[in-house]
Amino acid sequence: MTHFTVQNLQKVQAEIAEQLSASHRAKDGCQLIAVSKTFDADHIIPVLEAGHRVFGENKVQEAKGKWPGLREKYDGIELHLIGPLQSNKAGDAVALFDMIETVDREKIARALSKEIKKQNKTPKLLIQVSTGKEPQKAGIMPELVANFFNFCQNECDLVISGLMCIPPAGEDPSIHFQMLKKMADDLDLKQVSMGMSADYLHAVENGATVVRVGSGIFGARSYPVA
Ligand SMILES: *Cc1c(COP(=O)(O)O)cnc(C)c1O
Repeated sequence: MTHFTVQNLQKVQAEIAEQLSASHRAKDGCQLIAVSKTFDADHIIPVLEAGHRVFGENKVQEAKGKWPGLREKYDGIELHLIGPLQSNKAGDAVALFDMIETVDREKIARALSKEIKKQNKTPKLLIQVSTGKEPQKAGIMPELVANFFNFCQNECDLVISGLMCIPPAGEDPSIHFQMLKKMADDLDLKQVSMGMSADYLHAVENGATVVRVGSGIFGARSYPVA
């Protein structure tokens, strides 16, 4: 019997493929991240066995406990950090992750720059934007993105690949997706990470190159995450 996560994965993949085609986008235009936060190796292994290799975690510490062991058994794993990063964890984050999607302030940019040089590793980097201008949440304010992008490139020697957002709960996500896509286009950035279980097809329609799907693949999380 196929594990339910694998059936979910295949359904999400098929829907993304269909939406890419309906939106006249390239077949390989959007990468699916299976967000495995709160789920242990027993849940992740069926998805790896099914051939999927791209995963997202929101906590450095949790990822550090789970993924080095899985990487010994499976080749080609690509890990994305999608949760807030503290500067004292920048070293672990650079060591563990292939993409860090949550660069959102100068202190983090400086800490990453230092670690990237020290470790001679080059994780891809996205700037997280608070498209809903929520001061209590992660992400840089939209009007500061261009300056921050220049700071990252010019002061920190960081290569920024694109932008990421989490729209505010209760708002039409498509407006935020369109805003993020336009900001990325204006800065000539290719990667746009947006869309979660509830809205990933809208994100694909609006130009997402990365969607982050957790509960839609692994099922409901048994404990809430910050
Ligand atoms: C948890 C999380 C997701 C996945 O959420 P689901 O609704 O379970 O798909 C996507 N992005 C971020 C930043 C997350 O923290």
